Amino acid sequence: KREEVPASVHGIDPELVDRRATDVVRTLKQAGYEAYIVGGAVRDLLLGLKPKDFDVATNATPEQVKGLFRRAFIIGKRFRIVHVVHGRGREHEVIEVSTFRAYMDNAAAEQVSGNEKTSKAQLSGMQHAVDASGRVLRDNVWGPQDEDATRRDFTVNAMYYDPETQVVVDFHKGIEDAKRRVLRMIGDPATRYREDPVRIIRAVRFAAKLSPLGFALEPKTAKPLLACEPLLQEVPQSRLFDEMLKLLQTGHALASVAQLRGLGLEKGIYPLLDVVVGRADQPFVQAALADTDRRVGEGKTVAPSFLLACVLWQDVKAGWEQRLAAQQHAFPALQEAIDDVFDKRIGDVSGRGKLAADMREIWVMQPRFEKRSGSTPFSMIAHIRFRAGFDFLRLRADVGEVEEGLAEWWQEFSLADDARREDMIDQVR
Ligand code: ATP
Ligand code: MG
Repeated sequence: KREEVPASVHGIDPELVDRRATDVVRTLKQAGYEAYIVGGAVRDLLLGLKPKDFDVATNATPEQVKGLFRRAFIIGKRFRIVHVVHGRGREHEVIEVSTFRAYMDNAAAEQVSGNEKTSKAQLSGMQHAVDASGRVLRDNVWGPQDEDATRRDFTVNAMYYDPETQVVVDFHKGIEDAKRRVLRMIGDPATRYREDPVRIIRAVRFAAKLSPLGFALEPKTAKPLLACEPLLQEVPQSRLFDEMLKLLQTGHALASVAQLRGLGLEKGIYPLLDVVVGRADQPFVQAALADTDRRVGEGKTVAPSFLLACVLWQDVKAGWEQRLAAQQHAFPALQEAIDDVFDKRIGDVSGRGKLAADMREIWVMQPRFEKRSGSTPFSMIAHIRFRAGFDFLRLRADVGEVEEGLAEWWQEFSLADDARREDMIDQVR
């Protein structure tokens, strides 16, 4: 079942492999452990794509890994892993090192979590998993490599690559599936979605990401998705929010919307995602999604606040206009409209204070762009969120919501020197 596939067969270009990942693997192997690059990085390498990050899997425990590197930090509780850090500041690079884990179906996990039922053998594999919750224990039970492969989601995500020997270790015909362009869930798909419903969203994400390469979900893998969707109700909102952002902010937003619709999952994963999919054909939202995909494709950063501000803009506008019609003053009316949108649409995504603050700033800037007199334009360009606010204005101009000339004026104003700026303000009216 364990297949060792040589470079002549898989054809991975060693040039695409991050040197730091290779270093981490070498250090672990020299200390006598097994170590491989694993998961999404191997999949991307196999497809000739440059992986965005590299994960390493090993039979060393987190403590043993930590002991081998100068800057290594054990993180996570639900899923304890080691971050090995290279470099400093903005340039720093993190290699995630995880210990091979046992595959446990729900019955086995039940065993582990019920204290008195836990056998000595199971406990011996369970290092420092102190939490009483079964989930935490289950996710930190170490095991052999083949079980580590089996607990992963898709066959193409479950391969191991040794950068020194250039051998790919494949337990589930991942290489064949990569060649055939099939996304196949390991094991019984419905059971795997029940174990962790987030895999439903991951199925959509990988289908979207890999669709340009000709990948499709295997029919057996796709079939239970819709029936399993209600299981997502049990997943914490914060995790769903994060998964939604991965659908929308990793360069495949439009493809993800298409997949969701094609699979019948356009509603019910997460309320805010329902809104995104429902509005994806509106010119402004579509432009925002396309713009996000383009930026990610060009290696630029994207902020969730920007996209979500685009998606919810029509609600803000409607609430604002309603309050203006009721004779409220413009500024408090806008603030109230924004509060209202947060209450209705964002709900209790606590810990997202920065996100909400950024969205608010983008929105509040919009009416101020229309005031091109006095010192207002100068304070606008000094605003730390000017760029985001301007990009938002730019998109509004692109879809004809404001005059093209307004966006052009601000573009020029932001690039001009102060004397020219004074002239520009004088010329308005
Ligand atoms: P990406 O390129 O988007 O990062 P990835 O495959 O690396 O894709 P990660 O979320 O980084 O995805 O996870 C790394 C690996 O961990 C996956 O390739 C998969 O083997 C495993 N994995 C992650 N989440 C799950 C899950 N919910 N169920 C099973 N295996 C998972
Ligand atoms: Mg990854």
